[in-house]
Amino acid sequence: TTTPLTDLEIAHSAAMRPIGEIARKAGIPDEALEPYGRYKGKIDITRLPHKEESGKVVLVTAISPTPAGEGKSTVTVGLADAFSLLGEQTMVALREPSLGPVMGMKGGAAGGGYSQVLPMEEINLHFTGDIHAITTANNALAALIDNHLHQGNQLRIDQRRITWKRVLDMNDRALRRVTIGLGGPSGGIPREDGFDITVASEVMAVLCLAKSLDDLKERLSRIVIGYTFDKEPVTVRDLGAEGALTLLLREAFKPNLVQTIGGTPALIHGGPFANIAHGCNSLIATKTAKKLADIVVTEAGFGADLGAEKFMNIKARQGDFKPDAVVIIATVRALKMHGGIPKDGLGSPDSDAVKRGLPNLSRHIDTIRAFGLEPVVALNRFTADTEEELATVLEWCREQGIAAAVADVWAKGGEGGKDVARLILEKIEAGNEFHQLYDEFDSFEQKVGAVVQKVYGGDGVLFTDKALKQLQDIEKRGWDILPVCMAKTQYSLTDDPGIMGRPEGFTITVRELIPKLGAGFIVCLTGDIMTMPGLPKKPAAMNMDIDREGHAVGLM
Ligand code: ADP
Repeated sequence: TTTPLTDLEIAHSAAMRPIGEIARKAGIPDEALEPYGRYKGKIDITRLPHKEESGKVVLVTAISPTPAGEGKSTVTVGLADAFSLLGEQTMVALREPSLGPVMGMKGGAAGGGYSQVLPMEEINLHFTGDIHAITTANNALAALIDNHLHQGNQLRIDQRRITWKRVLDMNDRALRRVTIGLGGPSGGIPREDGFDITVASEVMAVLCLAKSLDDLKERLSRIVIGYTFDKEPVTVRDLGAEGALTLLLREAFKPNLVQTIGGTPALIHGGPFANIAHGCNSLIATKTAKKLADIVVTEAGFGADLGAEKFMNIKARQGDFKPDAVVIIATVRALKMHGGIPKDGLGSPDSDAVKRGLPNLSRHIDTIRAFGLEPVVALNRFTADTEEELATVLEWCREQGIAAAVADVWAKGGEGGKDVARLILEKIEAGNEFHQLYDEFDSFEQKVGAVVQKVYGGDGVLFTDKALKQLQDIEKRGWDILPVCMAKTQYSLTDDPGIMGRPEGFTITVRELIPKLGAGFIVCLTGDIMTMPGLPKKPAAMNMDIDREGHAVGLM
């Protein structure tokens, strides 16, 4: 047997076409393309010809994942290439990789095997600098706040109640809590502060939900940065900083164009966390793709309980569009995990364990159906999967009346995704009765309750005393009109990461509420949610290097 090629080797051997050619293929006129090197470009959406946003949106989501990820990006890219092979005018819309997970656990996030976006090294490392611009805008605001305190604090901001943190695009646990302003009278006002990872910044969420530069500015101005001594909210508008912040984000707001291995145009833009934010690429990229292509394949982070729920209830609601089809990715290894097999035993064949894990898939199917859509199951094939294990899943889907097929896109590229793509086309053809799970005028508790019952399959919600007090304040200010953004572990349908499968009879405890008025949602914190991750014992960075020709080594 030969060792399979690494993602990086496959990416290096793929023939890339100049970005101008990809733009032409996507119907982007020359004057709207701003080339960024040979194989990347930014799109000036104001120079696109006027067109209806009529492309069909295919959302790729997954069952509750293992820590390794179930291949959403990989299958998203592979499916797009499959649609292209079937003769459909297609575009992919994906999130930008954050350097934190690239250097930490994941080692890259541009798909895998023969289903990748290119140039994968550049996409994984700094790309077109958008995330750096977001870091800078976030930290410019932090600097303006501290300067305001130092220069006399006209707004009477209580330095103990500042909620705006600094950010960095790295996993750096040592920065979670810091003391700033040391160094005497010229060093500013001392206070407790902390760092989040950039993808957790509200600036990222704002950039990903804004519909235009004007909307971006308006949203930035609404961000609450803290409270006064009288416990009144202080916003970016109060500081007068929205103009400067929007200016810093001008280029970052333009979607980035790249290509898949199969030559399908791909927009990679924005990457908010899927726990304390909504976890999908920018609305502007999705809308641009809807204008340019007939089929838009896109993904949402983590499992369907988080990513798909927020894609529908937050992104589709704010963006005023509806998904046309949903693909749920299942893997044999994750099903075995839900069937009770520990992480280090997932490599051994065990069809019974696969069968025991199927209730987790069925829960996510019910979730998509709750939105009025009929999902397609894509079984992402790994080389270790046996025919019997794969057949176990397909057989069960057939019994349940669920359209399902194997996606072999990691090994075969678009060719391996045609079966799933055909099933999706049937669903698009059949239409759907998409509807939201709750109305914006429902009470806040009803909204959270709807998600817990219809998505997680739980009995109800418990608000801690602290959360209840915050809820009163939120209601008093009329902020409860906003949708909820649940921050919950991705490993379980409950708020306890150790509970696998399809649990029943549980309640979700909401510990804290965080109003994100710029993004336009209220975050509900459940369990322990980390907004500044740490590096693992053996960071992916330790495998990285650069060779004599200057090529990257060790990205995945
Ligand atoms: P997600 O988007 O769900 O986090 P990714 O698509 O990033 O998952 O995949 C996670 C990792 O698993 C990547 O390194 C990818 O190359 C690998 N992977 C995905 N699908 C397969 C597969 N079918 N066989 C082998 N490796 C895969």
